[in-house]
Amino acid sequence: MTAQLSFLDQVNRSFDRAAALAGYDPHLMNQIKECNSVYRLTFPLKRDDGSMEVIEAWRAEHSHHKLPTKGGIRYSLMASEDEVMALAALMTFKCAIVEVPFGGAKGGIRIDRRSYSRGELERITRRYTFELVKKLFIGPGVDVPAPDYGTGPTEMAWIVDTFKSLSGGELNAEACVTGKPIAQGGIRGRLEATGRGVYYGVREACGVEEDMKALGLSTGIEGKRVVLQGLGNVGYNAARFLANDGALLVGLAEYEGAIADPDGLDLEAVIEHRRETGSILGFPGATDLPSSAEALEMDCDILVPAALENQITEENAGRIQARMIAEAANGPTTAAADEILLEKGVTILPDLFLNAGGVTVSYFEWLKNLSHVRFGRMEKRFDETAQRQLLSAVEQATGQTFSDRDVSHFASGADEEDLVNSGLEETMVNAFHQVREVQKNHGSDVDLRTAAFINAIDKIVVCYEELGIFP
Ligand code: NAD
Repeated sequence: MTAQLSFLDQVNRSFDRAAALAGYDPHLMNQIKECNSVYRLTFPLKRDDGSMEVIEAWRAEHSHHKLPTKGGIRYSLMASEDEVMALAALMTFKCAIVEVPFGGAKGGIRIDRRSYSRGELERITRRYTFELVKKLFIGPGVDVPAPDYGTGPTEMAWIVDTFKSLSGGELNAEACVTGKPIAQGGIRGRLEATGRGVYYGVREACGVEEDMKALGLSTGIEGKRVVLQGLGNVGYNAARFLANDGALLVGLAEYEGAIADPDGLDLEAVIEHRRETGSILGFPGATDLPSSAEALEMDCDILVPAALENQITEENAGRIQARMIAEAANGPTTAAADEILLEKGVTILPDLFLNAGGVTVSYFEWLKNLSHVRFGRMEKRFDETAQRQLLSAVEQATGQTFSDRDVSHFASGADEEDLVNSGLEETMVNAFHQVREVQKNHGSDVDLRTAAFINAIDKIVVCYEELGIFP
């Protein structure tokens, strides 16, 4: 029964389906599929009230075919060995799809962060980092964590600070983790990168007239009715970029429930309402739905699950009305649900492609840390001057004068954020069209998830071929 498959089994099942079509040596496929190392650890936490608690945590490094390995750390009560291994495997394939030179990894600490004070979270994060350092499970050339569910720039700042204090003056210490605050070696654009990448992926998919026609939808984002689950880092930013491009947010869900409005919800006003009242429920003019799960079944064009895995299952897949599912979260659709949805003709933009914007910009941050210089610092002014000279040459040649506004618009060198966003857009656009191409080449019964896995396998195989280990 597919419904009982663990998260890791589900990822492996998708891998196996793609591997069977990719046509490589089965032993090589096994090597690529298996998780290389898993570190399970426990450590004590002294709570603020003086009591003691044992904290359970993991770090999985799925593939060492490229180093360092890379993947987020999540704080969640659902964290488990199976979950980190599944997420680490997805990271390997994700990195291959967007061509960032990392193997996949993932970390998890089994806690509900809302139950701990800031000081307790800091002690947990620093102790976890200390344990990873001791076992060589973290380092700029070894394994580089990042934020994930329940973590953000503050936890990354504690990690880099702990690592620095233990690494004895290591010059590249800042590159031991990404998603850091800017002052700690972070990069502009990383915070919203995953959500922005989700937007680019959805925009590309909605831009293909042939595919949209097949779904009975118009081309483009404008006017698309979107339901989104999970208003955290990824969900909030994906919603923001989609809405800015004209999508209507007809449903928003958080763990306390969901709200709906067929005319579209004002995202910033909803966030403000939640800040004030502690809940999205009761938002003026919207209808309350008692559970987040109900929002998934709303009538809409695009459903964006952006919270956690296993949200769309065999149980509710038949009632999903969306024509497109944009997997902003990792593993939101179970294998059994996948089959039901594909049967219904729903297009699924798979997690291993769609939420790869985070690791793409993490790669840029890592490069920045290794080069010790901000992107754009050397050339921004030079480019601006060259463009101004060009504009003045055009003015002289044509007799036309550009306004100050035009000059500052046309003659502006790119800064770090411009370059990061442009590199991210280029990556997501290329990755979408590559995956779609693989899908086309394999015929109509190959879905985008299988195509994405095949694309990743093709790229990883190249790394093994030259070693001559496999025939
Ligand atoms: P986050 O902690 O910032 O946000 C998650 C949000 O989901 C929270 O607001 C939480 O309250 C909400 N939530 C939890 N359970 C819910 C439920 N049942 N219904 C509705 N909302 C619920 O986490 P995030 O970083 O945004 O990560 C979300 C997903 O995106 C995860 O699957 C993560 O692995 C994936 N992801 C994150 C990144 C990243 O850069 N942060 C990168 C790639 C993938």
